[in-house]
This record gives sequence, structure tokens and C-alpha cells, in this order.
Amino acid sequence: MYFIQFGKLRDVRLDIDMVLTMKRVFLISVILCLFCSALLADIRVDFKNSKKTETIKTINVKGIEYFAVSELQAVFNAKSITEDRIENKINISIYNESINVLQNSSYASFKGILYNFNYNSFYQNESWYLPTTFIKNTLTTLFPTKLRYNATKGTIEADPVIDSRVKVIVLDPGHGGKDPGAVGATSKEKDITLDMVYLIKSKLENELDDVKVLLTRSKDEFVSLQARTKFANDQHAHLFISVHCNAALAKTSRGIETFFLSTARTTESRAVEALENSVVMDYEGGQEAVKNYDDLQMILADMHQSEQLEESSNLALRIQLALVEGSKAVDRGVKQAGFYVLRGAFMPSVLIELGFITNVEEEKKLLNKDYQNELANSIVQGVKSFKQKYDYIQ
Ligand SMILES: [Zn+2]
Repeated sequence: MYFIQFGKLRDVRLDIDMVLTMKRVFLISVILCLFCSALLADIRVDFKNSKKTETIKTINVKGIEYFAVSELQAVFNAKSITEDRIENKINISIYNESINVLQNSSYASFKGILYNFNYNSFYQNESWYLPTTFIKNTLTTLFPTKLRYNATKGTIEADPVIDSRVKVIVLDPGHGGKDPGAVGATSKEKDITLDMVYLIKSKLENELDDVKVLLTRSKDEFVSLQARTKFANDQHAHLFISVHCNAALAKTSRGIETFFLSTARTTESRAVEALENSVVMDYEGGQEAVKNYDDLQMILADMHQSEQLEESSNLALRIQLALVEGSKAVDRGVKQAGFYVLRGAFMPSVLIELGFITNVEEEKKLLNKDYQNELANSIVQGVKSFKQKYDYIQ
């Protein structure tokens, strides 16, 4: 009996040992699981100065964490993720920069330099996958001030992403009200420009469903040049397009030209500039008003316009190309001039001279509905091609 009791005692002690061991095993497994999940979990992205948090979902392939490239689009509002099948690369636009990831390889090229993210990209279920090292190491190296990897928390701290896609377009029909603009044999510039912007507006809205189109004037009224750009700035417009008709003493002058703002200009550009700016002298208060525009330019030009110059010239070029191709009119080219109406605009802005109202033939064409449709379609094509490029690169 004594022995039996002793045996029982030993059994009990064994049981306690077993329970303790099991508890330890359980605790260790829990800790291990937590540790593993921290290593392998989705990546949380915390945006600086905002409560916005996003998650990049990951999948595990043979112990390596991968994410679908499309996740970047959603989280960082990466403008485009396009696949170049010929060059075998995936292009990712993020923070206004473009990165090329080589397909089925562990390399990304950025500004001519190759970066190794250790594990090959692969294609599965209609999506490209990259290892999370691409985010944790490569992207944080490429954008050191914008993206930081917090290894302790396993999270990414990111600068907010600004959505700079072209979504608001302001169309500006030249002249109006007391200011007729150029006057032809049977028509006035202010009427043609108003008809044209209504046409362009409806076509733009039909073709680009994510775009809002606003007009600086919707009827025959006088609007100062300053008020036109102020309207565009107040509306946070992404593009400003001023529509005009040309005039010349020589009745044979004809053709289409598109301008963007610049202080550098040719003598010929100066002539058009003087013509379009004369509204300030004639209808906005003479020399005093001119001085205001010049002062305004001094302040604004350096600050904002230089940033917009390249985009403005690019927009002008695309519109001019489309217009000449569509209308078969004489190509007078893309030019630079110091139009007051473009000076205060904080966005890519151009001024289109659709043709010479002082040329009898061209005036007739400008009043023809088919020709107007053709011009409007061409401008829309130019804007569309600019928008596609701009939305992806920005
Ligand atoms: Zn004009």
C-alpha cells in the first residue's frame, strides 16, 4: 500500500511535469507564431500627417513574401502600372517618378541605375508579383525622404500621395461683351470663341468621363483677363485653354497657331501678344491696368510658371499637331508669347489661335459647323493625348 501510494505520488509528479512542459510548448508556439506572423504579415502603410492607413496584402511562396504589383496602385495611387511585353518590363509610376522592373528577374531600373531586390518577380493569375523586399529595401532606397521602413513595427511610413491627374479643365473663350476681339467681314471673334468652347466642352465630357470642364464665361459678357485666370486657380483647374481667332492687316494671313506663356518670344509672337493683350489697354482701365498685370507677372512668373513651362509647351504641341492634322489648315506652329491671360495661371496653360478672321476664306471656315466640329475634335484629341501622358508620369 505504501508502495502503491508512493507510485501514485510519482504519477502525480509526472502529470505536473507534463502539464508544465505542455504549457511551455504552448507558450513557445504562441510566441513563435506571433514572431512568424510579424515577419510574414501584410505590410501596413501609415501615411504621415494623416490617420490614413493602408495595407499591402502579401502571399507566401516557399517562405518568401510577395505582393501583387496592383497593390501599389491602390495604396500609393501609383499612376500607372503598365507592362512592356517587348522590353519585358513592368513600369511603375510612383511619387512622380517612373521605375522599371524587369520581368522574371530581381532587378529594377531607376534613373539608369539597377537595383537588386533579391528575389525574382513572377507572373501568376494575371498579375505580376514582387517580393516585399522591393518595398522594404528598394522603394525606401529610391524615395528616402518619402518612404521609411520601420523594422520594429514591420510597417512603412509614407508621405501622403497627391493625386495630380487632370480632372478639371477650364476653357476660356476669348473676349466677350464690350470687347469683340478681332472683327471679320461678317463675324466677331468673341462669338466664334464662345461657340467653339461649348463644342469642345461637350466633346471633352463625352470622351473623358473623369473630367469636369468649366468655362470662364458662358455668355456674351465682358470678363477681365485677371478674372479668367483667377477663376481657373480658384477652381483648382489642371489645365487652362484659352481659345481665340487671329487677325492681321495682311488679308492673306491664315493658319492655326498655339501659344504657351514665355518671356522669350519672336517678333511675330509679339504681334499676336500685343493684339490679345490690348484688351487691358482698351477695356480694363488703360495704362494703370497694364501696370498691374506687369507687376503681377513679376511676382508670379518666377514662382509658378517655370514649373508649368514644360507641360504647357507639351500641351501646346499636342493640340497644335492634332489641329493641323484634323483641319488641314496652314501650320503656323507652336509659339511662345507673354499673354496676360496666361500669366496668372498656376497650371499648364495654352492659347489657341484657331484661324484668321480677317482672311475671308478662313472666316467662312471658322463659321462652318463641320469645320468647327473638326477643330473641336482635334483639340479634344490633343488634350486626351496630353492627359494620358500627364496622368501616368505625374
Ligand atoms: Zn483674341
